Amino acid sequence: MQVRHILRDKGREVISISSDATLSEAARLLASKRIGALVVRERDGALAGILSERDIVRAVAQASVNALARPVAQYMTRAVATCCDDDSVDGLMEMMTHGRFRHVPVVEDDRIIGVVSIGDVVKTRISETVMEAESLRAYIAAG
Ligand code: AMP
Repeated sequence: MQVRHILRDKGREVISISSDATLSEAARLLASKRIGALVVRERDGALAGILSERDIVRAVAQASVNALARPVAQYMTRAVATCCDDDSVDGLMEMMTHGRFRHVPVVEDDRIIGVVSIGDVVKTRISETVMEAESLRAYIAAG
C-alpha cells in the first residue's frame, strides 16, 4: 500500500495557516476542521513549517494565555519531514514512529498535495488486515 492510496480515500485537502496568524486563530481552525495539525505558509505561499495541537499545548504551558496572541511562527516546527505519494505506508509509519510526529505533508513537484495523519495510516492498516484475513478465510474454505 502506498501513500497515494490513502490520499485517494481521504482526498487532497490541505488546511493551512499563515505564519503571522496568532496561536488563537490556529486553535480555532484546528477545532473547526477537527484536525490535529496545520501546514504553515509564508505570505507568498511557500512552506514555512507545521503547527500541531502539541505545539499549542507547549506554548500555553510556557506562557499561559499570553501565548494565544503570539504568532504561529514562534511555535511551529520549521524542519518539516515530508513524503511523496509513491512512498509506502509502512515507510511512512516508520518515519512517524522515529520522528515522534503524527502528521506528514505529501509533496509533489514542490507543492503540497495532501497531509497524512497517523489516524489515516492506522485506518489503512486495519482495512488491509481485514482484507487479508477475508482472503485467507476464502482460500481455506475453497480448499
Ligand atoms: P504531532 O505528533 O504531529 O502532533 O506533532 C508533534 C510535534 O512534531 C510538534 O512539535 C509538531 O510541530 C512536530 N511535527 C508534526 N509533524 C511534523 C512533520 N511532518 N515534520 C516535522 N515535525 C513535525
